[in-house]
Amino acid sequence: MTSLYASELKTGLQAVRQAADVCRTVQAAISAESLEKKDKSPVTVADFASQAMICRQLQAAFPDDPVIGEEGAEELREPAGAEFLARIVAECGSVGVDGTPDEICDWIDRGGLQEYRSRFWTLDPIDGTKGFLRKEQYAISLALIVDGEIQIGILGCPNMPLDSSQPDGAQGILSWAVKGTGSFIQPLDSPGSEPRRVQVSSTAVSSDARFCESVESGHSSHDWSGQIGGQLGIRREPFRIDSQCKYLAVAMGDADIYLRLPTRKDYQEKIWDHAGGILVVEEAGGMVTDIHGKAPEFHHGATLAMNKGMVVTNGQFHDAVVAAVTDNSPDRIPPELS
Ligand code: AMP
Ligand code: MG
Repeated sequence: MTSLYASELKTGLQAVRQAADVCRTVQAAISAESLEKKDKSPVTVADFASQAMICRQLQAAFPDDPVIGEEGAEELREPAGAEFLARIVAECGSVGVDGTPDEICDWIDRGGLQEYRSRFWTLDPIDGTKGFLRKEQYAISLALIVDGEIQIGILGCPNMPLDSSQPDGAQGILSWAVKGTGSFIQPLDSPGSEPRRVQVSSTAVSSDARFCESVESGHSSHDWSGQIGGQLGIRREPFRIDSQCKYLAVAMGDADIYLRLPTRKDYQEKIWDHAGGILVVEEAGGMVTDIHGKAPEFHHGATLAMNKGMVVTNGQFHDAVVAAVTDNSPDRIPPELS
C-alpha cells in the first residue's frame, strides 16, 4: 500500500466497508410488500445510517477534515423524525456502531459542509437510491479532495459481480485509487485479500464500444445517447445500471464509455455523484471530462458548477465521443461555463 495518504485510505476503506454492511442488511430486508407500495423508507434509513457511520470514522481519525455530504439531520431532530431516527440508531447498532440519537445526528451533520475548503472529503452515502430500492446496483462513494484535486477515490459496490461474465456469481466490490498510484479492487467481503489492480479496456475503435448510462432517463438522456451511439456506429446495446458502479464498469474494462447527458439545461451535477468514480477511472487509465471536453472542477463547493454532464471513456477515442455529443442535437446542449 502506498505511503502517501495511507492512513486516510485505510480509514476511508474501513468506513465504506462498514457502511456497506449496514446497506446490505437494510436492502436484504426490503419486502415484496414495501416494493409494491413504493415505500422509500428503507433507502432513507440506510442513507442516514451510512453517512453517520462514515462521518463518525472520519471524525475520529481526522477531526479537522470537513465533509461535503448529501444528507443533513435537521428533520431527524424534529419530534416528527424521532421514530425514523430510532430505526437509524437500531440499524447502526446492528453492525456494532452504538450511538445515542443525538450522537447519530451529530455524525450525520458532520457531512453538512457545502462550501469549498482546501482539504475536504465528499460523500454519497448511497448513490443510486432507485437501484437500492429495486435491489439492483448502488454505490457508497467517498473521496478526499485537496486543493481541488481528487487524491483518494473509493467506491463500495455491494451488488457488483466480482466476475462480470458471471452476473449471478459472488457479488460485492470495494474499489479505490490514490492519485498517481493506480486503481485497485478487492472483494468487499475479503478485506485481507490481495488487492487486484484494474485497467480500462483496450477497445480501440468506438464502433466496438459498449457504453453505459443511467437506468433513469430523467438523470441522463437516453434519446441523446442513442443518437450519439448511432453516429459512433455503436452496435451493442447500452449497459444501464444505477450509481457510480458505471465508473467502476469502465475502470474494470467491462464498459468502454459512460455518458451522462443533461436532461435539463440548469441541472448542476453534485460532486459526490462523481468524485470517487472519476479517480477510480483515471487511475485505471481512462479519461473523464464534461460534455464540452472540460476537466471537472472541484473548487466550487457541493456542485460541479462549471461543468455540464460527463463523458467517461477508456481514453482511446475520447475526443470523438465529445465531438459526437456536440454534433447530435446541439439544441439540447447546456452552455459551456467558464
Ligand atoms: P444514476 O444512478 O446514475 O441515475 O444517478 C443517481 C444520481 O443522479 C443521484 O445521486 C442524484 O444526485 C442525481 N440526479 C438527480 N436528478 C438528476 C438530474 N436531473 N440530472 C442528473 N443527475 C441527477
Ligand atoms: Mg448520488
